[in-house]
Amino acid sequence: MTAPKVAVVGAGVVGLSTALCITETCPSCSVTVLSDQFSPDTTSDAAAGILIPHTYPGTPTHVQKQWFKETFTYLFAISNSAEASEAGIHLVSGWQVFKNSPKEELPFWSDIVLGFRQMSKAELQKFPQHQFGQAFMTLKCDCPPYLLWLEKRLKAAGVQIYTRKVADLWELHSEYNVVVNCTGIGARQLVGDEKLFPVRGQVLKMNSDAALCQLHTCPQSGGHNIWMPASRLADTDCLASRCLKPVEINPFLLQLPSLSCQPLPTSHQPSLSSCSSPKGLARS
Ligand SMILES: Cc1cc2nc3c(=O)[nH]c(=O)nc-3n(C[C@H](O)[C@H](O)[C@H](O)COP(=O)(O)OP(=O)(O)OC[C@H]3O[C@@H](n4cnc5c(N)ncnc54)[C@H](O)[C@@H]3O)c2cc1C
Repeated sequence: MTAPKVAVVGAGVVGLSTALCITETCPSCSVTVLSDQFSPDTTSDAAAGILIPHTYPGTPTHVQKQWFKETFTYLFAISNSAEASEAGIHLVSGWQVFKNSPKEELPFWSDIVLGFRQMSKAELQKFPQHQFGQAFMTLKCDCPPYLLWLEKRLKAAGVQIYTRKVADLWELHSEYNVVVNCTGIGARQLVGDEKLFPVRGQVLKMNSDAALCQLHTCPQSGGHNIWMPASRLADTDCLASRCLKPVEINPFLLQLPSLSCQPLPTSHQPSLSSCSSPKGLARS
């Protein structure tokens, strides 16, 4: 029997990870990656890459928990290996603070990340207007190096990688036995998935400590995530005082219904005028 031919469409973090997973679990498969864009021009390159799941309606929680557990275990092993630096995978410690208590004070992933606990009152005092907080350590995947690392491993395993825009998945059916669609937001056009829409984000880096400060807002509970490298735990107080007020996300960013994936000028140069105390922040 000839080796099954598999085409993976898309070279973001999902496409390259999927191609590697297929290659490793089915070494007899002949795998090809087809994509119109590669790193550094994918959405994945823009991600802060913090492993923290959201709860998705429509998928049982135990299934989401299993997905997260497997992902965490896989990447944790890389973070503990000699490849960690090249792959861009490392542990980060951070806080998730809320203006109102979230519905679930103990999220389903609390026993998968490391050292999950509720923040003490003293810690919360560093975050005025926030009533509830969680502290834990999770993994950060720096996507630009991770994508290059994945590409390197794919090439070493004999995977073919081509630049190609696929207009219709059916155009691949005469060449491949299996086609895996990993086109991210591109699936909206490719397979007419109108439920998909892009969500903009903002990643700010703190200048002096090269610490990452990622901002997420949770509209229901007014939540923010604030992250710093594990190696800087000793600087917690210092970082907190720097992160405290500047972490107001640009409210216009998330409200924009734009379907364009082009970075907004404000994404590259966030207006720090909306931050009450921009001291210590650099743009990213
Ligand atoms: C500012 C920001 C911060 C973020 N932070 C985090 C975070 O901390 N943690 C987290 O988990 N997520 C985060 N995300 C989300 C994360 O970036 C995305 O969920 C993830 O990158 C999606 O990966 P993907 O491979 O599915 O899609 P993409 O990275 O968009 O890759 C899609 C690939 O498909 C290709 N493609 C599309 N259409 C076609 C076609 N017709 N033919 C051929 N190729 C095609 C594209 O060229 C691209 O290579 C963040 C996102 C943003 C914008």
